[in-house]
Amino acid sequence: MKGNDVCCDCLAPDPEWASINLGTVICVHCSSVHRQLGTHISRIKSLELDEWTILQLSLVSSIGNNLARSVWEATSELNGYAPPDYACCTRKVRETWIRLKYEERAFLRNVYKDTNLLREKLISSVERGDLQDVYSLLPYCTPEVLNYQDPTNKQTVLHTSVIADSSLIALLLVWNHIDSQLEDTHGKRAIEYAHSPLCDVLAHLTSACPIHPIKSFVAV
Ligand SMILES: [Zn+2]
Repeated sequence: MKGNDVCCDCLAPDPEWASINLGTVICVHCSSVHRQLGTHISRIKSLELDEWTILQLSLVSSIGNNLARSVWEATSELNGYAPPDYACCTRKVRETWIRLKYEERAFLRNVYKDTNLLREKLISSVERGDLQDVYSLLPYCTPEVLNYQDPTNKQTVLHTSVIADSSLIALLLVWNHIDSQLEDTHGKRAIEYAHSPLCDVLAHLTSACPIHPIKSFVAV
């Protein structure tokens, strides 16, 4: 995949690790910084040593470094920042760059001041099943935007994605901390509309599924 021949954070060649929720491949040195950030920001797996589920593979191969960098480094150059020199940078320099990028979210575009517009864009992207668009919008979404409930049926975008069986989008939403316990006007949480294996995945990430008792977890 174009862009995945180098580390998403420092551009070192032949990266052997991945952040499955960020949809990127990274080098061993950056992966150790990512681990320090915590799984609420980055979930690390080895391309060689770990077992991968189909969903994880699909997510990383659907996003990739080029899209991720266009989102997370959108304004880095404008602000006078560049990826660290992988050949000689110190751990401190590498860590500062990665923390600025994903923890401080310092290089996002300053374009979504209007939360109504952002919400409409997110809803539209989820309805279209446009994973790349959803990925690009999520870093800007506050909990209020993410957990917005349609006034007519009280459904969230998680309900929408689960009903449409958009597994990857549902996974991204959950990893971005959408409230999976919100109920629609029928008193149903999103997971109650899911079918296996999506149900297994969401149940594993959120809570036990009342409709499909979990026989086997899909590790995510
Ligand atoms: Zn790196």
